Amino acid sequence: MRLKLRNIFLVYFVVSSAGLLYALLQLGQQCDCTRQTKPPHDVHRWENTRPRGGENLPVIYVVTPTHARPHQRAELTRLSQTLLLVPDLHWILVEDSAARTTLVADLLAQSKLPYTHLNTLTPPAMKLKDSDPNWLKPRGVEQRNEALRWLRENRSPTDHGVVYFADDDNTYSVKIFEEMRNTQKVSVWPVGLVGGLRYEGPLVTGGKVVGFHTAWKTHRPFPIDMAGFAVSLALLLNHPKAQFDPNAERGFLESSLLGPLVAVGELEPKADNCTKIWVWHTRTEKPKLKQEDLLEKQGKGSDPKILV
Ligand code: UDP
Ligand code: MN
Repeated sequence: MRLKLRNIFLVYFVVSSAGLLYALLQLGQQCDCTRQTKPPHDVHRWENTRPRGGENLPVIYVVTPTHARPHQRAELTRLSQTLLLVPDLHWILVEDSAARTTLVADLLAQSKLPYTHLNTLTPPAMKLKDSDPNWLKPRGVEQRNEALRWLRENRSPTDHGVVYFADDDNTYSVKIFEEMRNTQKVSVWPVGLVGGLRYEGPLVTGGKVVGFHTAWKTHRPFPIDMAGFAVSLALLLNHPKAQFDPNAERGFLESSLLGPLVAVGELEPKADNCTKIWVWHTRTEKPKLKQEDLLEKQGKGSDPKILV
């Protein structure tokens, strides 16, 4: 019995001494902290945000008018890479040109997006000149109408879809695309940095649009920027004449499409009852390229084969 007790004590002594020794050794070691800390919430791995598709979602048809200028490729690269994050999306890119350009064709082919590449030239009388202020004439009108024509010829009202007019220079959060996905007729939300305000957008009471936060031409039937609404494909296809009026008074372009399609009381407010800004009417400064002429005169101009 005495022997047994001694043995138990001995085993206990050896095990606890070994444990103490191990703990002391560990104190001196460097910690592999990365294994123990959780990744911060704002780090999303690419795999988590990649479009999954296959869930039978209504397709978002993003209609983008675009025109040639030194920073066109930069704008389209930025936009295409935002659109890549959105599942079940089809990009309709319409060039304001007499023919489709290789610059845009190559960009689309490399984009990994489902797309349709169209073109139509704005008639010279309606075209903005370089010296004109950009509000003088409407921009991208013929191109958006060309996309509507394509949709009417290539899609049917039974196809589930929603159409969004996304200019190539705005800034889009991926959130806005999920907001518009289930549009029944016309969905709306505010747009940042437009109309001389921090934002312009619908005012919502009891889930209905009851007015608009705007300071410019407040009598417009739909004082909503192009980036602030989406229309169901079926509604557009069931109204085959609905389109943008190239002769609409300045500020009335959006109203010229929406007027025949929907009443203000029927608008579907999104983005937390129009309290969240998930799209911004940004504009890109025109790049200054005056050194190009200088170098060209010296025979040392930039290589035209390098696409910028
Ligand atoms: N756009 C066009 N042709 C033009 C000028 C503009 O197709 O001659 C396109 C442009 O690329 C953009 C949209 O029309 O996608 C709106 O133009 P812009 O951004 O200049 O208009 P704003 O921001 O002043 O409303
Ligand atoms: Mn713009």
